Amino acid sequence: MKEQDPKERIKNFEEVPFGYSEEEAILEAERCLQCAKPLCIKGCPVDVDIPEFIGHIKEREFRQAIDSIKEKNILPAICGRVCPQEIQCENQCVLGRKGDPIAIGSLERFVADWERENQLKACPECKPPNNIKVAVVGSGPAGLTCAADLAKLGYDVTIFEAFHAPGGVLMYGIPEFRLPKEIVMDEVETLEMLSVKLRYNAVIGKLFTLEDLREMGFKAFFLGVGAGLPIILKLPGTGLNGVLTANEFLTRTNLMKAYKFPEYDTPINVGKEVTVVGGGNVAMDSARVALRLGAKKVTVVYRRSEVEMPARRAEYHHGKEEGIEFRFLTNPIRLIGDEEGNVVQMEVINMELGEPDDSGRRRPIPIKGSEHLIKTDMVILAIGTRANPLLTKSIPSLKLNKWGYIKTDECGSTNLEDVFAGGDIVTGSATVISAMGAGRTAATAIHHYLENSK
Ligand SMILES: Cc1cc2nc3c(=O)[nH]c(=O)nc-3n(C[C@H](O)[C@H](O)[C@H](O)COP(=O)(O)OP(=O)(O)OC[C@H]3O[C@@H](n4cnc5c(N)ncnc54)[C@H](O)[C@@H]3O)c2cc1C
Repeated sequence: MKEQDPKERIKNFEEVPFGYSEEEAILEAERCLQCAKPLCIKGCPVDVDIPEFIGHIKEREFRQAIDSIKEKNILPAICGRVCPQEIQCENQCVLGRKGDPIAIGSLERFVADWERENQLKACPECKPPNNIKVAVVGSGPAGLTCAADLAKLGYDVTIFEAFHAPGGVLMYGIPEFRLPKEIVMDEVETLEMLSVKLRYNAVIGKLFTLEDLREMGFKAFFLGVGAGLPIILKLPGTGLNGVLTANEFLTRTNLMKAYKFPEYDTPINVGKEVTVVGGGNVAMDSARVALRLGAKKVTVVYRRSEVEMPARRAEYHHGKEEGIEFRFLTNPIRLIGDEEGNVVQMEVINMELGEPDDSGRRRPIPIKGSEHLIKTDMVILAIGTRANPLLTKSIPSLKLNKWGYIKTDECGSTNLEDVFAGGDIVTGSATVISAMGAGRTAATAIHHYLENSK
């Protein structure tokens, strides 16, 4: 897929890959073997019938292609852009054994964009309204999917969202140049077509408790509140000026549009030499945003090696092309400030890899005597997030695991019969598509529960 030139794109927030033309999409679709037993479907957490939609593209039947995807996936323009296809559907494609697998994600993006750009969006088929009210808490991919599936079954669904905009991480975390926000808004519009109500600035646990919602007539609840509480490194110097979490940095930039300052009233101070700590998608996004906001040098410091780095390969590759430096097997041990309390250096130590730890990845071990200094005037901590206790604290009878994530069975049922949950608040930080899969599973469980309690 053609892309913006790295030298140009680091000066703007526009999307990096341009997307397929019709001819390119058809050429790619023609490579699909239409396997009798397609493994690619097994690699998709929401069971999209991949050969079917690709078969339609091949025949130029774009309407049928998008309809086929939307039977299972309500957010195809988003998934086509941000799903880690390389470890899911594309990883299963038999063509990948000897060469390049089919670019399933790019084809999904193509038909979703075709529908949007030609203004052909249609409301998915729905059962007649049954006037049973269901509340969905959180409008990330888990909440949106659960809400859409329930609305299609005829339920009267309201999504309660803490922020002033929908989408969760899709809106506040993933930057514009990877996922344009007009695409998120457009996919959310499908929910509005399904008559799902969206109520913003509604922090459940503060504005309303679950009990309040029960009194308002809601008969079942889906909790999809994500895991957005940043983990702060326990190091000397994290309180210095110029040290921030990736959450704060990305939320200011993406949701509050700091990259459009002064058009949007959100200032952001970006250093000249920015150091990002971490090796996941969040670290890649932070580094690439810092570059676009004017940093002269951006370095990613990661304690394991390139092989263990959890970021999507495409994002790592884009980051390298854009000139981001990577220091692998390096861990920060202290941040050093000047007399005014601004960060000016990071002391790091080299690491080597030992035996695998609980995550299955080889454990990084510090190499004594290898400490050295990196010059930096901004540090972004992207070392992970955890469950935010704000909602769960307000439901003391809800069972949580030892890390504060909600305990559910495989259907998304919690220990409270009318409460279901899914997405990052159950699994910890994962992926868009796994959150969507959980939203879908929980919608089925909610439907069974409400059918049985009639
Ligand atoms: C910067 C970044 C980049 C990422 N990149 C990728 C990627 O490229 N590909 C990929 O597959 N995954 C990626 N992920 C992970 C992915 O985005 C998440 O796994 C996914 O969004 C989780 O979905 P969710 O619906 O569970 O939660 P979220 O997306 O976190 O949404 C939860 C929503 O609930 C709301 N909420 C929280 N508490 C309350 C409350 N008390 N009341 C009301 N609302 C509340 C929040 O405001 C939020 O809108 C990335 C994550 C980050 C942070």
